[in-house]
Amino acid sequence: MGIIVGIDLGTTNSAVACLRRGKVQIVQIDGKNTVPSVVALRNDEIIVGQQAKSRLLIDPKNSVASSKREIGKDVHYNLGGKIFTPEDVAVNILKTIKMKASEALGEEVEEAVVTVPAYFTSEQRQITKSAAERAGLKVLRLMPEPTAAALDYGIDQNKNQTLMVYDLGGGTFDISIMQVKGNNFEILAVDGDSRLGGDDFDQVICNLLYKQINKDLNISITLEKERKYISAVTKVKEAAEKAKIDLSDMDEVEVILPNLIDDYCLEKTITRNEFNELSKPLIDRTIEKMNMAMKSINYTEDDIDRVILVGGSTKMPIIRESVKNRIKEPYMAPNVDEVVARGAALMATSLATPDYQKKSGIDLLKKIVVKEKTVFTYGIDLLDRYNKLVFTPIIKKGSMLPALDGVIGATSRPYQERVLLNVFRGDNPVPNENEYLGELVLDINKPMQQEIPILALFEIDENMIIRFRSVQLPISQEYAELIGSNDIKRLKAYLDMGRLKATEVIIDAKENGR
Ligand code: AMP
Repeated sequence: MGIIVGIDLGTTNSAVACLRRGKVQIVQIDGKNTVPSVVALRNDEIIVGQQAKSRLLIDPKNSVASSKREIGKDVHYNLGGKIFTPEDVAVNILKTIKMKASEALGEEVEEAVVTVPAYFTSEQRQITKSAAERAGLKVLRLMPEPTAAALDYGIDQNKNQTLMVYDLGGGTFDISIMQVKGNNFEILAVDGDSRLGGDDFDQVICNLLYKQINKDLNISITLEKERKYISAVTKVKEAAEKAKIDLSDMDEVEVILPNLIDDYCLEKTITRNEFNELSKPLIDRTIEKMNMAMKSINYTEDDIDRVILVGGSTKMPIIRESVKNRIKEPYMAPNVDEVVARGAALMATSLATPDYQKKSGIDLLKKIVVKEKTVFTYGIDLLDRYNKLVFTPIIKKGSMLPALDGVIGATSRPYQERVLLNVFRGDNPVPNENEYLGELVLDINKPMQQEIPILALFEIDENMIIRFRSVQLPISQEYAELIGSNDIKRLKAYLDMGRLKATEVIIDAKENGR
C-alpha cells in the first residue's frame, strides 16, 4: 500500500503533506517545507525547485516560474530547444514532489488530493488532473485551495460556523465563503482574481526602484535589450520581493544594490507607510472581491463568524489591517504556507480505506464532506414547437455536485446530417442573452426521413470538471421506452459502458460565480 498525500501545487511554492502517527505532517522536499514551483534547464537536464529558482537569476531564458498562471492558455516555453506547455511544467514539478516525498517517507507516494484555485475553470482543472496523472499520481480528488485551508483550520472544531477564507498568494487571489458544520463544508460563494498576488506588490517596489535608477542614470532599464540591463532588472525584482518581505517586520528598509549596472550602486530607502500607500489600489481590489462574494449570497460582515488568512502575501500587516477594518480581526495560522497542503492531506486520508487510515495512526477519520453547488444554470439551445430557438436548461443553478442531467431532443428536418448544439449558461430563455460556452457538432449516422432522437448530457463532477456529451439514440423499442421515461441515468450508464458512443466536449467555464 503506497502513501497517500495532499499536494498544494502553488503558483510560487508547492507543498506536500500526509498523515502519519495520527498527525498531519509536512513532507520536506530538499530539507524545506515548501518547494519553489520553478522548472529550469541546466546542461540539458531539467531541474525543479530551489535549484531551478536560483537559475532564474543567472539564466532566466531557460527557467520558468509562476507558470500556473498560464495553465489553459496557449503558452509555450522554450527550454534549450525543448518546448514545454504550462501542463508540462506542472508535470515536472509534480514528478519531483512525488519522487522526493517518496524518498523522504521511505515509501512510494502513489495517490494524492491535489488542490486548485477555487476560480480555476473546468479546463484548468482538467489540465491539472492530467498533469498529476502524467506525473504518475492517482488523483483522488481535486480540491479548492480555500476549502483545504479551512479544513486544516476547522477540522477539530465541532462548531457550526461561517468562514471566509482570504487567500492571497504569489500570483492569485481567492475568496471563499463556506458553512462549516463539523466535518461538513459547504461552499456558499467564491470569487477572486487570477492576476492579483504578491508579484503585484513586488511590482510596486520595483517601480520605485526603476524610478530611482531613472533619476540617477536617466535610463529606463526595463526598455533596454542589452544583457547587463536584463540582468539588472532581474536583480531589482529579487531585491523588491526581499524588501517587501522585510517590510512585513520593519517600518523601513534600505535597498542597496552595488554594481547593479557597471559600477552604479542603487540605494533607496522605502518606508512601510509609503509601500502601504502605493499598494492601496491592489488591496482595494481584494476588498471589492470580498464585497462581491458576500453580496452574491446576501451576506454582510455580521454573517461571517471567522475570517482566515491563507497565502504568503497575507503576512503583510496591511492585509490584516484592511480585513480587520472591513470584516473583523482575521485569524492566521503560524504556518500559513502549509495549511493548504495540510488540509489536502486530511481530505486525502478521509478518502482512503479504513486500513490505510489505521496505518496513518488514526482509528477512523470521520468522513469529510465538501459540498459544492453550481452557481449557474447550464443548457443548450433547442428548437421549440414554433421552430424558435430557446434556451433549454439542463443543470439548474444550485445543484449539488456531482451533478448530472440531460435532455432528449430530435433532429428538426428530414435527412438532417448534423446537429449543432450550442452550450450556454445563464437563466434567460433567449439563448443569446446567456453566456455562450461552446458548441458541439453531432454527425448523424444514417440520416433518415423520420426524426432521430438525440441525447444532450451535462455532467459536472466533484472536481468541477464540466463535461458535455451528445449522442444519437438508436430507434428501437428499448430506447423508445427509455426516452418515454426520460431515463437519463440509464442512458448515461450506456454511454459509460460504451454501448452508445457520444461526441464530447469539456466545457471551459468558470463554475464560480464570475
Ligand atoms: P504563496 O503562493 O502562498 O507561497 O505566497 C507567495 C507570496 O508570498 C510571494 O509573493 C512572497 O513574496 C509572499 N510572501 C512570503 N512571505 C512574505 C512576507 N513575510 N511578507 C510579505 N509577503 C510575503
